[in-house]
Amino acid sequence: MDCPFCRIDRALVAESELSVAFPDARPISPGHTLVVPRRHVASYFDCTPEEKADLWRLVDRVRALVVADRRPDGFNVGLNQGAAAGQTVFHAHVHVIPRYAGDVADPRGGVRNAISEHKPHP
Ligand code: AMP
Ligand code: ZN
Repeated sequence: MDCPFCRIDRALVAESELSVAFPDARPISPGHTLVVPRRHVASYFDCTPEEKADLWRLVDRVRALVVADRRPDGFNVGLNQGAAAGQTVFHAHVHVIPRYAGDVADPRGGVRNAISEHKPHP
């Protein structure tokens, strides 16, 4: 199987028993990090409860590291579940996306803007 997240080719940001975190290859903001289960599983929802808990603990650790390193003003945290939702790598992953005041003109809506035709939302 040719899965980029089963053979990470970059330095890890952090790791835990069941999960690893590494920089996104095409970051949409400085510090954009992916947190993935070590086990190959296409969908987050197919993770075991232990994997899910471990994954979210690592998200918290990544958040703390990014805060210490970069002092962002906020975060978008989320996952694209399924091709219809934009998923392109079918190894479950959570995006941790630091946000910086002024990085876009109008940040309102945040992850709601995943459906861009629906923005802006009041
Ligand atoms: P998604 O659209 O949620 O499936 O996002 C996949 C993400 O994986 C994108 O943000 C890509 O930039 C990122 N990506 C793809 N291949 C690699 C890789 N080899 N190492 C790190 N990030 C990657
Ligand atoms: Zn994989």
